[in-house]
Amino acid sequence: MLREFMKTCRHSFKRDLLKFLTIALILTRTLQAGSNNGRLDVYWVDVEGGAATLIVTPSNESILIDTGNPGQRDSDRIHHVLSTVAGLQKVDHLIVTHFHRDHFGGAADLAKRIPIGRIYDNGIPESDPDGRPNNLSFEEQIRPYRDIQSDARIVLNPGDLIPLKQTVGSPRLALRCLAARQKMVEPATSLQNTALCESALSKAEDRSDNANSNVTLLTFGDFELFIGGDLSWNVEAQLVCPVNRVGIVDVYQVDHHGLDQSNNPVLVRSLAPTVAVMSNGTQKGCQPETFATLKSVSSIQATYQIHKNLRSDSENNTDSTMIANLEANCSGNHIELSVDQTGSSYTVRIPANGHKKTFSTK
Ligand SMILES: [Zn+2]
Repeated sequence: MLREFMKTCRHSFKRDLLKFLTIALILTRTLQAGSNNGRLDVYWVDVEGGAATLIVTPSNESILIDTGNPGQRDSDRIHHVLSTVAGLQKVDHLIVTHFHRDHFGGAADLAKRIPIGRIYDNGIPESDPDGRPNNLSFEEQIRPYRDIQSDARIVLNPGDLIPLKQTVGSPRLALRCLAARQKMVEPATSLQNTALCESALSKAEDRSDNANSNVTLLTFGDFELFIGGDLSWNVEAQLVCPVNRVGIVDVYQVDHHGLDQSNNPVLVRSLAPTVAVMSNGTQKGCQPETFATLKSVSSIQATYQIHKNLRSDSENNTDSTMIANLEANCSGNHIELSVDQTGSSYTVRIPANGHKKTFSTK
């Protein structure tokens, strides 16, 4: 009798243990499925002189900033990095910095391939944002973007935070809008940036939509990445003069593909980045003045280019191991950056050539 009872107990204990282990395994798998192993990843997709930057958070949320040009090529490349490289099935947040086709153009094609959650932009303009009257081609270009089905449409304002999930045990994650439509966020300090601002020079006023680009700052613990779209020279200065509203950053996504209408030295010096990443094309961006500025800023340890500059001014190129695509007829290689779980270091990789370099955050 006693033996029978003990046997039943042993059996039910085994059964309960098995049940417990099965539930524990399912829970662990569920938690792992929704995590990026505590890392923050950033991918620069090659959209040939447009821009498309994908951010994947530790909880596997995705933010895409800009979408390259209209047509199959750029949306294919973005989709490849999103789904095959990063393993995502949705763009949770899409930010469009301004209404030029090399930034919003790929969005409608991408939306045919992958669902898009919330779309943030400066508010769709009624007419050509560069002020060209009766520009029918702008109306044709913007229509597919306007028709994208999404969960929400939000007009970004300085100070806005993109609502991102925080991960238990990870440093604080934030993506904050610092400027939009030439309006700036309130400075966090009253400390004047006098020395740098006094020597700053202005350029002719930019009346194009580049000046309206929204600017975001991604923060993960001590790590900071600046993304300013195609922000142009005089507006760049307003971000850091007379007070530096951004602070210093780790990574500077070079404004405007590295064109000399942008990348005011006062901005780059004030941000004092360690790494610069340029989304240029074979003939577009990576211009001499910008390249000289990047070379002259002493904090910059490494400049990366998505493309080699194939114009005759070939001296304006970084080391070829830090260029993702060397040929005009390229495979659309991307650059990736991974911030560790503590936010204290980050590694930049070019998977196509095996380049890999780790930097400490500031
Ligand atoms: Zn552009």
